[in-house]
Amino acid sequence: MFDRFREECGVVAVCGHPEAANLAYLGLYALQHRGQESAGIASSDGREVRCTREMGYVVDVFTPEQLARLPGHMAIGHTRYSTAGSTVLANAQPFAVVCNKGRIAVAHNGNLTNGAELRRELEQQGSIFQSSSDTEVILHLVALSRERTLAGALREALLQLEGAFSMVFLAEDRVIVARDPHGFRPLAMGQMELSGGRTCCVFASETCAFDLIGALYMNEVEPGEMVMAGPEGLTRERYVPEQPRAHCVFEQVYFSRPDSIVFGRPVEQSRELLGRLLAREHPVEADVVVPVPDSGVAAALGYADESGIPFRHGLIRNHYIGRTFIEPSQAIRDFGVRLKLNPVRRLLEGRRVVLVDDSIVRGTTSRKIVRMVGQAGAREVHLRIACPPTISPCFYGVDTPTKRELIAANSSVEEIRRFVEADTLGYLSLAGLREAVGDVERCAYCYACYTGDYPTELLNLEELMQARTRR
Ligand code: AMP
Repeated sequence: MFDRFREECGVVAVCGHPEAANLAYLGLYALQHRGQESAGIASSDGREVRCTREMGYVVDVFTPEQLARLPGHMAIGHTRYSTAGSTVLANAQPFAVVCNKGRIAVAHNGNLTNGAELRRELEQQGSIFQSSSDTEVILHLVALSRERTLAGALREALLQLEGAFSMVFLAEDRVIVARDPHGFRPLAMGQMELSGGRTCCVFASETCAFDLIGALYMNEVEPGEMVMAGPEGLTRERYVPEQPRAHCVFEQVYFSRPDSIVFGRPVEQSRELLGRLLAREHPVEADVVVPVPDSGVAAALGYADESGIPFRHGLIRNHYIGRTFIEPSQAIRDFGVRLKLNPVRRLLEGRRVVLVDDSIVRGTTSRKIVRMVGQAGAREVHLRIACPPTISPCFYGVDTPTKRELIAANSSVEEIRRFVEADTLGYLSLAGLREAVGDVERCAYCYACYTGDYPTELLNLEELMQARTRR
């Protein structure tokens, strides 16, 4: 629930609507939880691609005047919090360039595991980079391709990429979206009916973006698929032979909004089941079930329902902490988690509390929250975590720290319990997690952060680890 880890990105694309940039703006607004560092939109009126990107929240970045300067019936948008590349405007997306394939813009969610390698090769060939983001690599590959059409060049570029990517491209006359062969990050496709029987095609990381703009969710862009929307209508093609799926399970556990359908599954359904299974695996006698808001809410509801222990909002979250928060002087600075959470003493005092959260990463926040609940008068605090212990870093776009900092990579559950100062601690099992996301028979998810088994070959693991340490 804390922004210091906040990661990932959200992407949207619109094709065939007179107010494409406005729709992209609303879509990004719905995807704000996927990244709060920067936001950007590129639009095209069929002749020119224009782009605006700034640091900050979607509502702060775009004024009505700015949106008016993004005319056209096609647009792509991006909201970012970096996993690779540092925090500067140069890394804000979309990236827009003019090259031998025309004017193009790209926005990307995910992390390329061979991004640094490709960049080195490109630099040796003379490419000049303007950012430290791995997304720029894609534009260089497209520009260097000998294929004459943008689709051909893109296909060639995509085949050189490894790792996680859900991408949206904008050219003067078309929108092209693509997903990596394993489908690590989500990308949904939707439709809007316009007057005169026309339809508008929309794409977004999560379906909550469709709900806001009144679009109908159709299906997923398939892993290894490229979808083109342009003058010829809509075309879908598989650019690479089918490969095993590896959807990021953390999207279901934490990242996506519960009102979204992600990888074809309602997130809320997974979250509630996580809580139910957690209650079955780690029952305890208690008086109240309290979620750590917002990340633990859906799982706590499931836990409460399954166990019959009443659900109470015993911790209240302040939602209005922006990045611009100015910390007062040192003397009163050490608010810790109090800045975001405050206990409801009346609900906690003298009670045996089941505290439910989605995950423990370093353990430091969880310890503060357990302490806070204890100091508010709870008689016992039983911490329940709706996923297995996080033991390995993610290289596909979720910002987990190095193994050294991951508490579960270095300590037993009992040691973690003592560290967070809980009376008992229970994590959901891997089998429980698979059941909750509907993956018992399919094996379509990536669980690397809980197992250390990475679904793709990571030839440069050492380099990837080092990049993580440097951040
Ligand atoms: P800690 O106890 O310091 O490991 O922090 C645990 C808290 O961090 C939980 O409330 C999680 O919801 C939250 N958290 C875990 N992973 C992430 C992530 N990748 N991005 C943002 N928050 C996260």
